[in-house]
Amino acid sequence: MSLFSNIKNAYRLFKQVDMEQLGKLSQKIDLAEVMKNVSKLDDKQLAGLTKMLSGNHKKKELPPIEGDFYNIGHTLLPEERALQLKVRAFMEKEIKPIVNDYWRRAEFPFHIIPKVAELDICGITYEGYNNPVRSYLMEGVLAMEMARVDVSFATFFGVQSGLVMGSIYLLGSEEQKKEWLPDLKSLKKIGAFGLTEPEVGSAVAGGLTMKAKRNGNTWTLNGQKKWIGNATFADVIIIWAEDEDDKQVKGFLVRKNTPGLAVEKMEDKMALRIVQNGLVTLSDCKVEEPDRLQKANTFKDTATVLRMTRAGVAWLAVGCARGAYEAALKYTRERKQFGKPIASFQLIQNHLVEMLTNLTAMQTMVARLSELQDQKLLTDEHASLAKVFCSLRTRDIVSRAREVMGGNGILLEYDVARFVADAEAIYSYEGTKEINTLIVGRAITGFSAFV
Ligand SMILES: Cc1cc2nc3c(=O)[nH]c(=O)nc-3n(C[C@H](O)[C@H](O)[C@H](O)COP(=O)(O)OP(=O)(O)OC[C@H]3O[C@@H](n4cnc5c(N)ncnc54)[C@H](O)[C@@H]3O)c2cc1C
Repeated sequence: MSLFSNIKNAYRLFKQVDMEQLGKLSQKIDLAEVMKNVSKLDDKQLAGLTKMLSGNHKKKELPPIEGDFYNIGHTLLPEERALQLKVRAFMEKEIKPIVNDYWRRAEFPFHIIPKVAELDICGITYEGYNNPVRSYLMEGVLAMEMARVDVSFATFFGVQSGLVMGSIYLLGSEEQKKEWLPDLKSLKKIGAFGLTEPEVGSAVAGGLTMKAKRNGNTWTLNGQKKWIGNATFADVIIIWAEDEDDKQVKGFLVRKNTPGLAVEKMEDKMALRIVQNGLVTLSDCKVEEPDRLQKANTFKDTATVLRMTRAGVAWLAVGCARGAYEAALKYTRERKQFGKPIASFQLIQNHLVEMLTNLTAMQTMVARLSELQDQKLLTDEHASLAKVFCSLRTRDIVSRAREVMGGNGILLEYDVARFVADAEAIYSYEGTKEINTLIVGRAITGFSAFV
């Protein structure tokens, strides 16, 4: 290279130098000495030095964002793990891009139902329905995967697959199972579960105001149900009513468009806005005896369905918390303040680690809960304890997630605000904290504190 081009290159280089920075640097190191030494290096040594220095500026590789800290997903069988990842991919691809829009408009994305059907995951724990993987652990993990992206979708699915199919599976006659379960499983038909009433919520075990009167082979139902998920478009609503003759609770399959059945959409919810909750009114609504759940004769039978699904709600809480934690972790690694990622601040790390601690405790708890269920050892108090713990901790996790995101934490587009709101619904439905606490309290003390 000619002397002239050497000078030209050096000049170009100096033009790029920030003299102020150079001044600061020269106070710390002897620049003249450094340059003297560098000038003695041959081409190979110079290339080595350049490589070393540029290597230092490589973007730091960060660990993966992973809310399953104790690798519970890895305890699944290979085919179960594959299904988990398939459902995760579905949620990320089909639901995540549309969820905030539907949530804001409080509408249900009906167009996704055929795609959900293709997953073939409804009622996977039920025997005799061609389910290759049938564990409650698998079912719980799938519920968690759904809620990790959207709790409304997971709730829609939980009503269909758990409360509705579960009622028919556990308490229906063979004819009823044959008529309804295949179509519910393939989502050709959609169901709803009507237990709660405007004036009877927590106290459903103590008596319902929905009345059923038998006359020959025909039952006449009168009363109201509130909060009934999927009710506005369901093909069948399972209505729980008190038999006026023996005062026991019975279940009825009330078909869409039955005269005397009216459903009004509940508006202005601040949580689970995609779930279509209905106020259901039955006025002299006639149901024939073959549409009464044949094995549901007292509230104890209804409770067998709730026991099975309550464990699922604990998994939903885990999904909600995990979605919020992962979104918050991602955000704090990207968001910079004072020239540094906020994830590098001690106080932010404290929030993240507290979130992960609770999340990990919740996950190990529900994994054991499902094992108990798979071993047919699950009791009401087992499910209640997990529902209380997980829904309580979820509230804490989502509020920390929102906190570390500052103002953006309350914007829907940052994918945490929705979890904050939805955690409130999980906290209350399928038994409030108080009711589930009383169930556990009764079991461990031997004294019922129910009033
Ligand atoms: C989004 C959403 C979806 C739902 N979906 C359905 C559905 O599909 N089908 C369905 O049937 N129901 C559904 N529900 C109803 C849900 O199960 C009830 O909201 C829940 O059981 C609580 O009843 P409640 O709201 O009437 O509250 P209440 O029973 O009026 O309770 C109010 C407060 O009093 C407390 N409390 C009540 N009794 C006691 C006591 N003995 N001791 C101490 N404290 C007490 C409760 O814990 C609570 O804090 C849904 C609810 C929500 C929010």
